[in-house]
Amino acid sequence: MIVMKFGGTSVQDADAIQRVFEIVSARLHEQPVVVVSAMAKATDSLLAMGRAADAGNRESALELAGELRARHHRAAHELVDDERRATLLPQLDADFDALDDLLRGIAALHELSPRSEDRLGAYGELLSSRLVAAAFASRGLPAAHLDSRTCLVTDSQHTKAVPQFPETNAKLKANVAPLLAEGRVPVMGGFIGANINGITTTIGRGGSDYSAAIFGAGLNATRIEIWTDVDGMMTTDPRICPDAKRIRVISFEEAAELAYFGAKVLHPATVQPAIQQNIPVYILNSNNPGCEGTRITNVAPPCQSLFKAIAAKKRITIIEVVATRMLMAHGYLRAIFEIFDKHKIPVDVVSTSEVSVALTVDSNEGIPALAEDLSKFADVRYEGRKAIICMVGESIREKPGVAARVFTALAKGSINVRMISQGPSEINITFVIEEEEVNRAIQLLHGEFFQPSEIDATVFA
Ligand code: ADP
Ligand code: ASP
Ligand code: MG
Repeated sequence: MIVMKFGGTSVQDADAIQRVFEIVSARLHEQPVVVVSAMAKATDSLLAMGRAADAGNRESALELAGELRARHHRAAHELVDDERRATLLPQLDADFDALDDLLRGIAALHELSPRSEDRLGAYGELLSSRLVAAAFASRGLPAAHLDSRTCLVTDSQHTKAVPQFPETNAKLKANVAPLLAEGRVPVMGGFIGANINGITTTIGRGGSDYSAAIFGAGLNATRIEIWTDVDGMMTTDPRICPDAKRIRVISFEEAAELAYFGAKVLHPATVQPAIQQNIPVYILNSNNPGCEGTRITNVAPPCQSLFKAIAAKKRITIIEVVATRMLMAHGYLRAIFEIFDKHKIPVDVVSTSEVSVALTVDSNEGIPALAEDLSKFADVRYEGRKAIICMVGESIREKPGVAARVFTALAKGSINVRMISQGPSEINITFVIEEEEVNRAIQLLHGEFFQPSEIDATVFA
């Protein structure tokens, strides 16, 4: 069997869902399980409703919910035959009525807890999966809608819940495998799950890719396909460099680094379950299904070019800890990291000198409390509006002078580099710059390293 995941733009309206139907129909003989995201922007809109309700703007929250309801109704009218629509519309309306009630509750209490946020955010995938399943069935495809909350078991860390693999795999075998055996095409929402008590959870923004990989690993898929709105993983975000090239094949390790450092095309956790079982992952374009996309595999073929791609992660804060009192004391780094651990704030890039340590974290509201704790034994400064740039390629291993070329290119654009780290995996060069310089830095570096004369035609298209 295979897993086919379709992102928000791939299910954004009736035309897009019609294309998805055609793509899935062409793969029926491979026993697809279909995973869908919420319709494009639906999750953003649901979370905006929650914030509006929380702020007491009940009417504007309900108005946004009304717009989302109309959008789903419109797509249902265009996609679903009369008979099926007679059962689908009451189901959609029951969900939307429950959504309205939830928003009224949030507005009455002025309280939006992570748990209610998950209940709210989950409607996007619940609704899109129902709609897509009905659209498939109306076209004669033997689809079966399956609520992912009956399969994806997570812990209770709402908004970033962690999948529990043994429980999830058992549920997948019990609920999905029989449908496949009957020749049905299960259609499931990504992103959403439930804890062991059945309370709705979500696994983090962009998490439908991760759901697809979890389902693929649990069901021993031979392939996981991530269908999106670009031709594959590209040498950089094509919105920043329109001349970005498609990467034909990339290793799990390279793809994971790129995803982690901001290549939004793939959720960073996606490759984990796939690596464990060595299941190839493909990134494909639902607007251009003839394109072969990007294949992510265990071992990528040798590549003559230095780098595979450049990614950027914005909204970064640098925290600088200067501990003259602790000069040369052992246990000093451990003490610092214990405080980060206590505040549950993960660190991305670290650089140390004898008396100071600089670390980067995603900008978040927990930083002042963290800084206060750190300041008990050190001087602490923090500065937001930074970005991490990460350049990845297995070919840079054992190649001298690569970093010099990177920083010379940046110097030509007078781009100030604040921190540098060459990954211990030796497949990346990572550095921190001002957030507003990201596009310019990427354009400079892409121009330097991805000229047609520089790149390996067997790897890039
Ligand atoms: P989906 O809704 O299908 O999950 P996303 O918006 O999450 O799609 O991811 C696709 C987007 O990722 C692309 O439209 C592109 O702008 C962005 N992106 C960022 N970096 C890259 C990259 N290296 N290659 C391809 N796309 C990238
Ligand atoms: N709909 C969710 C989001 O927008 C999950 C996803 O699309 O992957 O974050
Ligand atoms: Mg995505």
